[in-house]
Amino acid sequence: MRIYPSHLSPVSLEPQIEDFCVVDVDSEFGQGLLVLRSFQQGETLFRMNGILTSELTLHSLQLAPDLHMDDPYVAGKVLHSCAPNSRLEVATQLFIANRAIEAGELLTMDYEETEDVLFRPFMCCCGEAECRGEIVGRQPSLATSGAELQTCNLQELVYELPLRERYPRRKPA
Ligand SMILES: [Zn+2]
Repeated sequence: MRIYPSHLSPVSLEPQIEDFCVVDVDSEFGQGLLVLRSFQQGETLFRMNGILTSELTLHSLQLAPDLHMDDPYVAGKVLHSCAPNSRLEVATQLFIANRAIEAGELLTMDYEETEDVLFRPFMCCCGEAECRGEIVGRQPSLATSGAELQTCNLQELVYELPLRERYPRRKPA
């Protein structure tokens, strides 16, 4: 069963509710996308869907200069990590597993791999050894606002199965 609402025309390899779930992570991170089954390294996770726009939004991902896909339902919920477990192939809009992913992991991506400038720059707290700290986009000269300092650590968030009892599924708004 698809996650995206009916007003978005289905695309192939869309995320299914059996495999992914939007969850409230905490007050620092907001919502995230939880993985409900294991994936192998290099495996396709899903193809994102959304509305193409020239405008940057909080939940958009950049596909090309001045071309963004706004997806407040699934891809826009993927949290940032400086050593992420997935990546977006912008040409195909496919999310690919960077490494083996276990059920119960939050899906992460590196926002600076796709975004020239972030809608909302932030001070990263992914907890990875290679954490770059301030995340503003891959073209920092375009960034206008400073990053907000956070003190959280993504790696301290541990999820245990069964997930469905712990995280009642949210209906897309
Ligand atoms: Zn980081």
